[in-house]
Amino acid sequence: MPGCRGRRFAYWVRLLLVLLAGAAPLQSGAQTPTRLAQPTDLARNPTTGTKVMEVTAYCPCKICCGPNARGITASGQSVSYHNQTFVAADTSLLPFNSQVIVPGYNHGKPVPVIDRGSMIAGHKLDVFFPTHAQAQRWGRQTLSVKIVSTSEAR
Ligand SMILES: [Zn+2]
Repeated sequence: MPGCRGRRFAYWVRLLLVLLAGAAPLQSGAQTPTRLAQPTDLARNPTTGTKVMEVTAYCPCKICCGPNARGITASGQSVSYHNQTFVAADTSLLPFNSQVIVPGYNHGKPVPVIDRGSMIAGHKLDVFFPTHAQAQRWGRQTLSVKIVSTSEAR
C-alpha cells in the first residue's frame, strides 16, 4: 500500500458514487426527497464554498497509518510537506491539491489535500499532526470547512 492511508475503500466509494449518480437521474425533482447535502451533490458541484464536515485527526504513527506506515501520503508527498500541515480528504470530492480552511487548524490558513483514507469518505476530513498526542487532542469535530479551491476533476 503506497499511501499513508488506505486507498482500497476509496475505490468502492467512488464506484458507489458513480452508481448512485447513474441511478438517480436529474429529470424528476419532484421525486427527489429534500435532504442534507450528500457526497454526490458535492461531486456534481465541486465548487468552492463552505461545507459542514466531520473532521478527525491523524499522525504518521502505526496506530494511525497501519504497520506499514512510511511517512508518505497517498499523493506521494512526504508528511513533512507544507510544514506538516495538510489534510486527508475523499479525493473523489476534493482532489489532491485542493485547498481548504479548517477552523482551529493551521491558524485558519488554507491547507492542501495531499492524502486520503479508507475512513475518509464523503464530507469528512482528517487533519494531520506530527504527533499522536496532538491528533488525539483534536478528537472529532464537526466544523464549517471553507473550500478555497478544488483542483480540476480527474
Ligand atoms: Zn497516530
